[in-house]
Amino acid sequence: DVSHGPILYLEDVTVSFDGFRALNALSLSIDAGELRCMIGPNGAGKTTMMDVITGKTRAQSGKVFLGQTLDLRRLDEAAIARAGVGRKFQKPTVFEQHPVWENLELAMKSDKRWFAALRARLDAPAQARIEEVLETIRLEDAAYRLAGELSHGQKQRLEIGMLLMQQPQLLLLDEPAAGITDDETMELARLLNSLRGQCSMMVVEHDMDFVAALAGETGRVTVMAEGAVLAEGTLDQVKRDERVIESYLGR
Ligand code: ADP
Repeated sequence: DVSHGPILYLEDVTVSFDGFRALNALSLSIDAGELRCMIGPNGAGKTTMMDVITGKTRAQSGKVFLGQTLDLRRLDEAAIARAGVGRKFQKPTVFEQHPVWENLELAMKSDKRWFAALRARLDAPAQARIEEVLETIRLEDAAYRLAGELSHGQKQRLEIGMLLMQQPQLLLLDEPAAGITDDETMELARLLNSLRGQCSMMVVEHDMDFVAALAGETGRVTVMAEGAVLAEGTLDQVKRDERVIESYLGR
C-alpha cells in the first residue's frame, strides 16, 4: 500500500515560450494513492504541466518534487521514468504486430528500450506478473490476439497495462477516454478506479461523464486556466464556481 503525504508537489512552476507564460506560478499537490482529475479549457497549460513533470520540458522556476525528496527538475526524462513516473499519451501506442501478452512482456523493460528488447527476446518472461496485469486490464481473453486487432478502448487499456508492468508510483494520463465508445469509457473508469491505492494518478480529461465516474462525489478535481490552478474541489463544487464557468465561456 502507498504511504501518506504528497506523491507529487509543484510550487510556483513557471514555463515561458518566447515570453508567453504557458505555466504561470502553478502550484499543486497530489496525495499518495489519490486519483486526481485535471480539467480546464484548451491552452490552460495541462499538457505543458505533464511535460514538466516528465522532464520533456524544463521549468524556468519553481519546485517539482516526487514524494518528499526527489527533485524532478534535476532529472532527465529517462531518470524520471525510472523513478516511477509513467505517462500515457492521448493516442494509444502499442506494438500492433505483436500479441497482447508480448506487449506486456516488452513493457517490463524500462527506458523505452522496447525495440531493442524485441530483438534480444527476454529470457525470463515473468508470467505471473503478466497474468496479473492481463486480469487487471481485463484482456485475459485477448492475450494472444495481435494488439493491432484490438478496439481503440482495448488498446488504451493495454497501454495502461504496459505502464503497470513497471509498477509506477505515479501515472499521468492525457485524455484516455478520447475517441472511445461509452461502454469502453465506463470500462476504463472501472480500471482506473481499481488502481486506487496501488499507484497515484493524474488524469487530464475533457469528457465530464468520465470525470464524474472517476471523481465520484468526494474526489478532488483541479481546474486549470492560464497556466495556473483556477479552482479545486469536488466536481460539484468546481462546476458551480463562477470563475470556472467564466473561464470556459470566455473562449
Ligand atoms: P492544454 O494542454 O491545457 O490545452 P498546453 O499546455 O498545450 O495547454 O498549452 C498552453 C499554452 O502554451 C498554449 O497557449 C500553447 O499554445 C502554448 N505552448 C505550448 N507548448 C508550446 C511550445 N512548445 N511553444 C510555444 N508555445 C507553446
